[in-house]
Amino acid sequence: MNQNPIYFDHAATTFPYPEVIDVMKEQLATAYGNPSSSHALGRKSKALVEKARRSIAQHLGCQAKEIFFTSCGTEADAWVLQAAVRDLGVQRIITSSIEHQAVLANVEQLSKQNIKVDHLKYEIDGEISLAHLKKLLEGSDQKTLVSLMHVNNEIGNLSPIDEIADLCQEHQALFHCDAVQSIGKLPIDLGQTQLDFLAASAHKFHGPKGVGFAFIREGHQLQPMILGGEQERGKRAGTENVTLITGMAKALDIKFDNLSEDRQKVLKRKHYFINQIKKAIPGIIFNGNCLDDTKSADHIVNIRIPVKETQEGMLLFKMDLNGIMSSRGSACQSGAQTTSYVLKEIYPQEDLLPNLRFSFDASNTFEEIDHCLRELKSIVEQNPV
Ligand code: PLP
Repeated sequence: MNQNPIYFDHAATTFPYPEVIDVMKEQLATAYGNPSSSHALGRKSKALVEKARRSIAQHLGCQAKEIFFTSCGTEADAWVLQAAVRDLGVQRIITSSIEHQAVLANVEQLSKQNIKVDHLKYEIDGEISLAHLKKLLEGSDQKTLVSLMHVNNEIGNLSPIDEIADLCQEHQALFHCDAVQSIGKLPIDLGQTQLDFLAASAHKFHGPKGVGFAFIREGHQLQPMILGGEQERGKRAGTENVTLITGMAKALDIKFDNLSEDRQKVLKRKHYFINQIKKAIPGIIFNGNCLDDTKSADHIVNIRIPVKETQEGMLLFKMDLNGIMSSRGSACQSGAQTTSYVLKEIYPQEDLLPNLRFSFDASNTFEEIDHCLRELKSIVEQNPV
């Protein structure tokens, strides 16, 4: 295998920044107190947790008391969805069929408890239909929660969250946004964008795995999902993971301090990849809106590759053997040998050919892209459709 793996799977996870590892090491060595202890070491840990909360809130334009630490994005999604039904009287959920499983599985479970679920229609290439959202919101007096992701993890489509938030406000609906793929990658101002809940995850923005947060707008009284202690102001029991929380805040500091520069770099890599692959592999098809920067995240390109369908599994394997890491859609699904539910949903009539997701980072080089495309081209030439 290539000594320096070429990593194009940043939508699955990212490497922790060296500075993040440093602050976590420092925290582990010097501040091992339990944040709930009243002595000096406990207070030191508590201060680190609260500093992290303040700094995350500042980057997002919200109040520190609106940030609740969780073990991951999945937990934040599950908490918001389940608790909005249980504690806020939500009777109906409007969502899309191309959300992450973290949302879909909870919605599915809630639908079995008499919660009405409406799925949004799409315009071309998986773009959600705002006109349909408006119609659905106008069509019922039931207390409604809209759950839509900011950036789709498989195809990179960007949802117009300001317009969605405005529509929800107009119709007294609540809006939960799974922002796991966008936090740290796109600017967001929760003072402006009037969404009610948001889920985020540190490992998607160069923080550690196993930590994330939920934003719960002040005034919404969600009760905890995990009981057994007064941590997180009584909303999530369990001793706080001070190390991971500190690392997450550091990662977000770095991301926001360099946001526009970082975005330019990622976009350049994405554009280069798109332009070069069009030349290298005629017949390539781009899934979702990745050719339109205004409707797509900077980091994701999802393609259909003209090789024999039977070669779908082989494609990733051969790339991996050559030290190139990408994925088939979502990381949680990529072990499964079935076509992506996202692609099936938005392109129901089409032959989906083997598809791959490439997700970029500012740390990728143009040479890596060239090397990857040479390998991909040679696999395609050896296995024509
Ligand atoms: N939501 C989206 C859009 C994601 O991409 C992911 C991770 O792939 C998750 C939720 C789950 O986040 P976590 O891995 O922190 O549980």
